[in-house]
Amino acid sequence: MATKKRRRRRYRLNPKFTRFLIYASVFIALIIYGYNGITSAIKEIKYKETNEYKLISLGYSKDETSLLLNNLNEETIVNILNEGKYNELYPNILSQKYYLAKNYEKYITYKEHHEKEPYDKVIAIVNVHANAGWYNEEYETDTNKGYLILVNKFYHLSSDYERVDLQNINLKYAYADNKAAQIVIAAYDTMYNDILNELNIHLMVNSSYRPYKDQEEIYNDYKNISLKYADSYAARPGYSEHQTGLALDITSLEHPNQKSFTESEEYEWLKNNCHKYGFILRYPEGKEDITGYNTESWHFRYVGVDVATQIHNENITFDEYYAYYLDK
Ligand SMILES: [Zn+2]
Repeated sequence: MATKKRRRRRYRLNPKFTRFLIYASVFIALIIYGYNGITSAIKEIKYKETNEYKLISLGYSKDETSLLLNNLNEETIVNILNEGKYNELYPNILSQKYYLAKNYEKYITYKEHHEKEPYDKVIAIVNVHANAGWYNEEYETDTNKGYLILVNKFYHLSSDYERVDLQNINLKYAYADNKAAQIVIAAYDTMYNDILNELNIHLMVNSSYRPYKDQEEIYNDYKNISLKYADSYAARPGYSEHQTGLALDITSLEHPNQKSFTESEEYEWLKNNCHKYGFILRYPEGKEDITGYNTESWHFRYVGVDVATQIHNENITFDEYYAYYLDK
């Protein structure tokens, strides 16, 4: 077979065509550049119309701006913009751990009327309805919540509410006529034995389940003095946690008096350890504005180990826990 001879060919562009290509390229480049310039100018104008730009212009940081935009509706954002100046209130409210969207307006109102109250306290007070004033809002306790039912100065039980699993508490660690829910007595029994082994202290239950009519008698006796007096020293009937059968007033044989109990090592032990058995100190010191009760070193409430541990770790009250985790 004959070998094909390859011929090299050299393509040359017509110089006129080359010039045309150069001009065309420059022309296209100019168009593209011009177009981009115009679009970016338009983009900038449009960005300046956004709420994001306007909030940043008022002094809200990028993070605060995202916080506001992600949590508030258009109308609220417009109202904030209309104020025409930076207000630390909004980002501070929104960044609180226990913030609930449904309470936004209430937080703002409460903080505006109580400027010195720290933000976390504003959130707590509003979440538990305490901003309304004690007994000024009324809710029926959701009795389907088992041992996590809430009874306080806003949530109440009906006059005929009584647990079916109430049992007498053994006289070895309770005074006469004390009853509580079975699960509470079992937990108390373990706690009693542990503190006995550890500190040689004998806990005693002073008071536990209290039926509606008993609470009514106590309250009415106080009310004969004055309504204010009654509300300071007793819960209104239906509003006492003792009606749940889940609360125990505890002192010790060694310190039977509530005042000396408050200063005892067993109180210290209970404060630090009761959550391991499912109990919480229901009315702690410093939380009076949230619970509506002066601190009670003797009043313990059963909520189960998991919830008690969480409440202990987060340093919140059961009222706050309920509002944030159970009533959302
Ligand atoms: Zn009590």
